[in-house]
Amino acid sequence: MKIELKNIRIVLVETSHTGNIGSAARAMKTMGLSSLYLVAPKILPDEQAIALSAGANDIVESAVVVENFNQAVADCSLVIGTSARSRHLAIPQIDPRGCGEQAVQYAEQDSKVAIVFGRERVGLTNEELLKCGFHLNIPANPNYSSLNLAMAVQLVSYEVRMAMLSRQQPMQTALSNEIHDKPTQQELDYFFQQTEQLYRQLNFIQNSGVMPKLRGLYARADLRKNELNILQGMLAAVKKSTVASE
Ligand code: SAH
Repeated sequence: MKIELKNIRIVLVETSHTGNIGSAARAMKTMGLSSLYLVAPKILPDEQAIALSAGANDIVESAVVVENFNQAVADCSLVIGTSARSRHLAIPQIDPRGCGEQAVQYAEQDSKVAIVFGRERVGLTNEELLKCGFHLNIPANPNYSSLNLAMAVQLVSYEVRMAMLSRQQPMQTALSNEIHDKPTQQELDYFFQQTEQLYRQLNFIQNSGVMPKLRGLYARADLRKNELNILQGMLAAVKKSTVASE
């Protein structure tokens, strides 16, 4: 099913600086989001907003201006409120990655999602946060956790995009092709057994510590069948030349 990012809206509550509206629009557009709601902005989008949107003026111009929080999220099935502090309210917490995944899942079902950002100085009120299904806190430096509004929008929009990309890619096919290419445990065991035998014979392996290390090395390499064939071939070549020189 196609993921419609237009189902995911960014809501900015009572912004003081129109520049932040523009920067947020730019952040959204770079990640493919387009739906912007403004709750009672102190100043309506102006020249400054357009300038800072750097070409994302279409998003600024089509922003929906509403009077209050409820109007901005009324038709949404998932509302995620963001906060620079974890407020310890009884609302489930979500991290940016989880937010991206949830948002995309809802959007895929054609349900509307709102990700709500607070006022530059004071964030969202507790009352507003209590209306959200989840609280999102970007796990920043605990001693300096408040991001610039548009930067917070950028980071969350990025996670939405990443979640969308990972769902859209034909991951399953890629994965199953890769799985097809993997040697069996039996083939690997045979290779290790041959390696150990040969290198013991050559006195390179003299204790039991080497093989587990080698197994670890090859496990990290996540060998494909054709790569194991090369290693087997190399082993056979060494074997042949040692036999010949004996
Ligand atoms: N002083 C305010 C911070 C406002 S920053 C406070 O303590 O709440 C403006 C907005 O940017 C916040 O309301 C939130 O929507 C977003 N934001 C900034 N830093 C964030 C963080 N670490 N995690 C989640 N959202 C953040």
